Amino acid sequence: MVEGPTAKAYAIKISREFYGEVVKNVFLKSRKVLLEPKELLNKRFLGSDSLGKNILLFFENITVRAHLMMFGTIHVYEINELPQKPIERIRFSVEGLKRKLIIYNAPIIEIDKNEILLERLKSILGPDPLSREWDKEKAVNNILKHKGEKIGVILLDQTVIAGIGNILRNEILYRIKVSPERKIESLSENEIENIVGACEILSREFLKLKVEGKGIREILNVYNRYRGRCKYCGGPIKFYMQKPINRKTFVCESCQI
Ligand SMILES: [Zn+2]
Repeated sequence: MVEGPTAKAYAIKISREFYGEVVKNVFLKSRKVLLEPKELLNKRFLGSDSLGKNILLFFENITVRAHLMMFGTIHVYEINELPQKPIERIRFSVEGLKRKLIIYNAPIIEIDKNEILLERLKSILGPDPLSREWDKEKAVNNILKHKGEKIGVILLDQTVIAGIGNILRNEILYRIKVSPERKIESLSENEIENIVGACEILSREFLKLKVEGKGIREILNVYNRYRGRCKYCGGPIKFYMQKPINRKTFVCESCQI
């Protein structure tokens, strides 16, 4: 599953590998077409960025948004190189003179005018800890709007903070020693600020490892550690599915209160 840092690492890689290509061929398989893909023809690729879990490809005045969900991937190939995956999995491709970019399996691909697409996306997403526009205060206020809900549930809500997925959510709450079951109304201002701070710190650590091409194991203290021990108290890491979201949840019950 793509989380904010994975999307950002993709964007950095694509910017480097596909920069400056001018579109000579385009293909899109999508039920929802906002702008005809042929509008991309002869447009230059100016770079990529992420917003939350979305990957944005910027062409002259047109932006392509991809959300990879569970199985999507993006590859840049030399123009004559054969794609490594079956053709029927291709959702979007653009060919330049030297290289081609292919998106496989992504459930969401949108093409639209730059401003329209960005405005629409920003209106539905909370602040992104990896964005230049990251706004801690707004993130705190967004959390406070959900007083009766659990912090473990709210952290996955992309309208509250964008880019936090299940790995980050587990590690953030472990690091701040807060139980995912705590209701927002029971958290102190200090605890909420610490959680928001950890969203940024852990997202950056996660991104750094991704960009360096390393695994993220070194930042994982609880996630997927089914028989692991807590590094603070030595107690067992407990695994359960948190309700009502039914997501894998790992906690140290003595440290996370
Ligand atoms: Zn512990």
